[in-house]
Amino acid sequence: IKYVYLFKEGKAEMRDLLGGKGANLAEMTNIGLHVPQGFTITTEACREYYRTGEKLPDGLWEEIQPAIAEVEKQSGKKFGDSTAPLLVSVRSGAKISMPGMMDTILNLGLNDETVQGLAKATGNERFAYDCYRRFVQMFGDVVLGVEGYKFEQMIHQAKEDQAREKGGSVYFDSDLSAASLKKLVSQFKKLIEAETGKAFPDDPRQQLQEAIIAVFRSWNTNRAIFYRRTNHIPDHIGTAVNVQSMVFGNMGEDSGTGVAFTRNPSTGEKKLYGEYLMNAQGEDVVAGIRTPLPISSLAGEHPELYGQFEEIAVNLEKHYRDMQDIEFTIEKGELYILQTRNGKCTAAASIKIAVDLVSEGLITKEEAVRKIDPHQLDKLLHRRIDEGAKLKIIAKGLPASPGAASGKIVFEADIAEKLGNAGEKVILVRTETTPDDIHGVLAAQGILTSRGGMTSHAAVVARHMGKPAVCGCEALRIDYNSRKITIENQEYTENDVISIDGGTGHVIQGLVPMRDPELSGEFQTILKWADELRTMQVMANADNPVDAAKAREYGAEGIGLCRTEHMFMDPVRIPIVQRMILAQTVEEREEELAHLQPMQEEDFYGILKAMHGLPVTIRLLDPPLHEFLPNSEDLITEIAELRLSDQEDREARQKLYDKESLLKKVRALHEMNPMLGHRGCRLGITYPEIYAMQCRAIFQAAARLVKEGYIIYPQIKIPLVIHYKELEILRQMINKIATEICLEQGVLIAYKVGTMIEMPRAALTADKIAQFADFFSFGTNDLTQTVFGFSRDDAEGKFLPHYMSSGILENNPFAVLDRDGVGKIMRICAELAKSTNPELKIGICGEHGGDPSSIDFCQEINLNYVSCSPFRVPIARLSAAQAAL
Ligand code: ADP
Ligand code: MG
Ligand code: MG
Repeated sequence: IKYVYLFKEGKAEMRDLLGGKGANLAEMTNIGLHVPQGFTITTEACREYYRTGEKLPDGLWEEIQPAIAEVEKQSGKKFGDSTAPLLVSVRSGAKISMPGMMDTILNLGLNDETVQGLAKATGNERFAYDCYRRFVQMFGDVVLGVEGYKFEQMIHQAKEDQAREKGGSVYFDSDLSAASLKKLVSQFKKLIEAETGKAFPDDPRQQLQEAIIAVFRSWNTNRAIFYRRTNHIPDHIGTAVNVQSMVFGNMGEDSGTGVAFTRNPSTGEKKLYGEYLMNAQGEDVVAGIRTPLPISSLAGEHPELYGQFEEIAVNLEKHYRDMQDIEFTIEKGELYILQTRNGKCTAAASIKIAVDLVSEGLITKEEAVRKIDPHQLDKLLHRRIDEGAKLKIIAKGLPASPGAASGKIVFEADIAEKLGNAGEKVILVRTETTPDDIHGVLAAQGILTSRGGMTSHAAVVARHMGKPAVCGCEALRIDYNSRKITIENQEYTENDVISIDGGTGHVIQGLVPMRDPELSGEFQTILKWADELRTMQVMANADNPVDAAKAREYGAEGIGLCRTEHMFMDPVRIPIVQRMILAQTVEEREEELAHLQPMQEEDFYGILKAMHGLPVTIRLLDPPLHEFLPNSEDLITEIAELRLSDQEDREARQKLYDKESLLKKVRALHEMNPMLGHRGCRLGITYPEIYAMQCRAIFQAAARLVKEGYIIYPQIKIPLVIHYKELEILRQMINKIATEICLEQGVLIAYKVGTMIEMPRAALTADKIAQFADFFSFGTNDLTQTVFGFSRDDAEGKFLPHYMSSGILENNPFAVLDRDGVGKIMRICAELAKSTNPELKIGICGEHGGDPSSIDFCQEINLNYVSCSPFRVPIARLSAAQAAL
């Protein structure tokens, strides 16, 4: 095998083997850019190094020799020569760039002899010793493991010594004289010998060998491993090593070094953006105490060089068809390019750049759509904290719902509502929220809770409403009585202002500067292109007209899931709902349902109207009934208090009696495992009057709208089906109600009936169920729970983190669809279903519907649509297009 490639032997496509840096150095060499010559040792060699227990692969060193000879020939210098010494850099570079994570050594090849040669050849002794000093320092640090600060201390001392002895200001490294540098070199060498017990290696070939090994080893430093973990870069791919002849930015004021982006990485503006320093080398620009100059001032100082660089930048962009991040060095007025790569930038910038590149004719619309990382869009769709802001973070909870908010601390939903409606900004702070708090949540800017996880009520509701939320902030002690919160001995009272960042989980003291979401013209353009390219429809999950309007604004093509349980939790309705649940007879229950029907009719009227022209999929009641009743502990406390009150008072007696019967019912409805209990269509089958009421409300609302000239497509969705007979029975009921109302009102309503698929049995008998359905909708939250057989709240709180960190599960299956298990069942289901009902529309409406990788899978199994929260609709539109490409 070939382990060594000269730059002229490689090309951009070889990044797996040569690493990103090596492949691009080769590519730039071959398109004729001014690149110092060298060679790349492959990533394969690095893998082999680790495979054989950290030994240089057989034959590698022999293969390197002719490569050095070639570089010597090209440069007219010789490695280790005492008159014209060749110096090289030894640079790391993996396939995926890991900026600054691994090591690089500059000026390799110097020793007490060659440094003289360098001084003579350049006529610049100070320069030669500056290189030498840098080399010994870097080599000592990176290769020999001597701590960096020890060198820095000596440099500091050398500056003081020189200032004392010779006078003048000695502030910067570049102020050090040749004599001072010379002294430093020998001090460094002594330090190294003392620390390592070995003399500094003088032989350039030994230096090279050790440096190559050090670069291989830098693949496995803690920071590199950590970086790979957080960026999902595999550990086994290894790094390449680039050995390149040095060019010198530290030869005086006509030399320098810098980095620049071809476009502004935060805004995308088409203008060179970067920094440089004259008389400097390598990392001085980013690390040094000298402040670098903006690249624009190069135009004034050295217009010719600037012109050259600008031209190269334009050409590199054209060649790579992307924004470039370029490293360059100027040696005595001559410009060299040392690295280029596709630049990393903010979401807003990457969108602008992609659209601009299309209009400049550099890339196609497909490529533009493919370029944008859908995960990045999330940040653009919410208000966020200004990146530059100084924050006083006082606590951290779970990042439960993205976006940032500031407001006065408020402890009660009623007060939040009152203040909120009066135009005040408030943050509702609770130990946890319940459905009773919903009005407060709606009126608040954001929610902060001390208990509860990512799926707690507060989190779910907040995400759904697009309200920022931080949940489970355990450092928070809330005292409702004294209306105070305590965080690490610091007290905050009602009306103190705090901020929360639902993207990071931070709780911040006081007001913070915010940025509004930026839905730029370019953003719309990319999404329009995405719409042209995708084949799956994108729908939204929305329960009310406000969310529906938001969904429409973000480009949803309908409502894929309208939950009806939130409608039952409205504070005005909850007493009626409770009476309905407590009813002893069907008649009593129907009486209460009759009160609810007009309210439901208004709900459906509103949402169907908001989605004029588009389908609205309404899911009939899903949760178990006890969710609408108060919890038994609260009731017990209330009852105990009532018992202490005056029993002569008739009203109090009645109240006590009511509460006691309520408690009885709550106990009767108690379930061992509510998730698998009496809910969904099981409710609809055992209490048909509830679903019947909902359906009447839907068709009455629909009839009104049809008469008013609206075009509407109601679709009724039955939750939790496990058997085709459930659907058969409920469908008959729905058809009957629809027919009655259409006849009564003299209208035609185009409606559909379908089912959620969230139980394994439903999926596995999909061929039967499909015969009674117009559509299927995978409820992947419940499907994941039932396929895995664990409840989400328990799993996420208790053992899932361990399962992920120990590598049993790669991802949280509730965030990223589990293709192997849940996905397999979905695939089987879709195939079975289409075998008996080819017209069936199949989609997904769990939270996965807004996750890019899950959307990709939906495309793979040929689903017809995805449905997600309104705020994720743009992400889904883009992801669906990428999945289709
Ligand atoms: P990183 O991957 O951390 O950016 P590099 O290998 O790019 O590390 O090296 C860092 C810097 O060292 C470069 O930006 C460049 O300024 C300098 N450098 C590397 N090789 C050479 C060389 N052959 N000649 C001059 N400077 C070099
Ligand atoms: Mg670099
Ligand atoms: Mg469900």
